[in-house]
Amino acid sequence: MVAGLKARADELADSITTEAGVPTRVAQRAQVGLAIEIAESFADITAKFEFERRVGNSLVVREPAGVVVTITPWNVPLLLSLQKIVPALMAGCTVVHKPSELAPTNSYLLAEIIAECDLPPGVFNLVVGEGAVAGAELAGHPEVDLVSFTGSVRAGREIGRQAAEQIKRLHLELGGKSASIVLEDADLEPAVRATVDQVCFNTGQTCLQWSRLLVPSHLQQQALELAGEIAGQYKVGPPRDPTTDLGPLVSSAGLERVRGHIRTGIEEGARLVAGGAEVVEGLQAGYYVRPTVFGDVTESMRTAREEIFGPVLSVLPYDGEKEAIRIANATPYGLHGAIWSGSSDRAQRVARQVRTGQSDINGGAFNILAPFGGMKQSGIGRECGVEGLDGFCELKSLQFPD
Ligand code: NAD
Repeated sequence: MVAGLKARADELADSITTEAGVPTRVAQRAQVGLAIEIAESFADITAKFEFERRVGNSLVVREPAGVVVTITPWNVPLLLSLQKIVPALMAGCTVVHKPSELAPTNSYLLAEIIAECDLPPGVFNLVVGEGAVAGAELAGHPEVDLVSFTGSVRAGREIGRQAAEQIKRLHLELGGKSASIVLEDADLEPAVRATVDQVCFNTGQTCLQWSRLLVPSHLQQQALELAGEIAGQYKVGPPRDPTTDLGPLVSSAGLERVRGHIRTGIEEGARLVAGGAEVVEGLQAGYYVRPTVFGDVTESMRTAREEIFGPVLSVLPYDGEKEAIRIANATPYGLHGAIWSGSSDRAQRVARQVRTGQSDINGGAFNILAPFGGMKQSGIGRECGVEGLDGFCELKSLQFPD
């Protein structure tokens, strides 16, 4: 499968640019390139995986979970699909995959690539259609053993309700409102730059976005000046223009939602430092929005609490480490985050107190072998690495006489 993916990488990336508006270079490297690396990583993980182990007089066997339904969103469509499909197949499951109706073509191409592999007919199946129809039908099907879903909390909740009826295995990767916490001993400039860049990646349409920047009160003004300057340097433009940094949002509904959040932030009294809800000059025709930075954001504001899914950063001032940890934890989400400190030990101590599935310490990079997933309403279960494969296994214990 990996050879097929590599051979058609440009075609896969181009379909993502066409349907989701992702700039070509982002689609090629950060989406398709990384997706292929993740797919490739499962060969070694599977080869070393302990499918059977002895415990006293028992043989503990990991069996395939059975018929798996994978349902994925449009924002990083190939990567999020492969992250489920590859380990599910490696564990011995059969898969019925339903991609997002907004970006399904990469999944058609993937189905063609899988058809070239040596899998028996029926092991991988593709169903396209709308979430509330095709997705709900598949997730609620009594012969499906496990549903692996990535998307909104709203849809995750509906799928969870259906799964509860049938005591179905469930894996949910949902939304986030992650915090990038700058401690007072950190180097401010690289921390702010990395946070703005991460917030703007994929035009802010990522679940792991650090949409809240927590800074000590006395450093807020300096942080805002830096964030405003960095955000202002982004070139917003069409996805196929090689000079574009920030492509359009996926849809008119997405644009209206993001603009609505920006207007709400202003009405709530947040200080607009960069960007805004106006039409971007020269780009009237698409779903464009400028990187937006708010300062003086307080915990109770909607911009600090709700997932915006656009390039909008909320800067929240805090006083003291304890308050930073409390604010970071004060959302229903717990997916990702970042900690910045002059001391790696101190950053680690803070990271351990933040209830999230992942934390990047002082710019630590994404690792495809580490488990990825959320605490609280950000989800159930983990993807990637050994845990990502284990999630598609059922346990059976066989007891033998001593
Ligand atoms: P969405 O929930 O609207 O759709 C995701 C998928 O679910 C689509 O394939 C859709 O057709 C399907 N779907 C929708 N309603 C359904 C239902 N009732 N039953 C079954 N399937 C249904 O989400 P979206 O707008 O495509 O994606 C954005 C959301 O995804 C954001 O909240 C984002 O945070 C989240 N996300 C999470 C992760 C993660 O790894 N945690 C990664 C990417 C995106």
